[in-house]
Amino acid sequence: MRLRNITGSREVIAESDYVVHEPEAAKGRWRELLGVAGPLHIEIGMGKGQFIHTLAGRYPENGYVGIEKYSSVLLRAVQKMEAQPLPNLKFIRMEAEDLENVFGRHEVDWIYLNFSDPWPKDRHAKRRLPSREFLRRFDTILKPEGRLEFKTDNRQLFDFAVEELKPAGWYADVITYDLHGDEKLMDGNVMTEYEEKFSALGNPICKYIIGR
Ligand code: SAH
Repeated sequence: MRLRNITGSREVIAESDYVVHEPEAAKGRWRELLGVAGPLHIEIGMGKGQFIHTLAGRYPENGYVGIEKYSSVLLRAVQKMEAQPLPNLKFIRMEAEDLENVFGRHEVDWIYLNFSDPWPKDRHAKRRLPSREFLRRFDTILKPEGRLEFKTDNRQLFDFAVEELKPAGWYADVITYDLHGDEKLMDGNVMTEYEEKFSALGNPICKYIIGR
């Protein structure tokens, strides 16, 4: 997601207390920083933040960190926090390739990827967030018993993601090609902005939950 350059978005973000500006300094201490005793959940590529903001409000005992690379998009998440502040949610503006500098080994309990960029060209496969290259990074920061959830309406990207699991040493607890048609999996489902948009167009939503 890339919104038109919004004048001043960088400045607003630079001054926002909802954004952690030196995330490397928080490595290994995220729960402390968020003031929570419960598990640490992160969303990578959160866009405008509807999903993680809703979850953080619903589960105040958990800690949440939303990661987004573009200021113009992150700005919308910051504005949601200004309208409805939550103590257990912080944002980072960063490229996901650098995750291991920001989260300690096995520090994270749960990772969410929602409607990640498809990077359709073969030569860009390494940039896809559910690729084996990213799974290796997630393996470092995620607890051994931790889980990763991925939702998308892009069937090609989802098929690729499923094929990456075995070579990367992960397995799926759950795989569905029609999340919204599955009553049990829909229990507690929080819609993302893209999920609302694409399911309204009639696109089925794919989801997996994986561990290793
Ligand atoms: N999760 C939201 C947005 C999906 S669009 C939703 O479901 O509605 C994908 C988002 O991920 C975009 O905002 C894009 O800027 C961000 N993104 C993609 N690759 C990223 C990366 N490598 N690091 C950080 N953010 C990334």
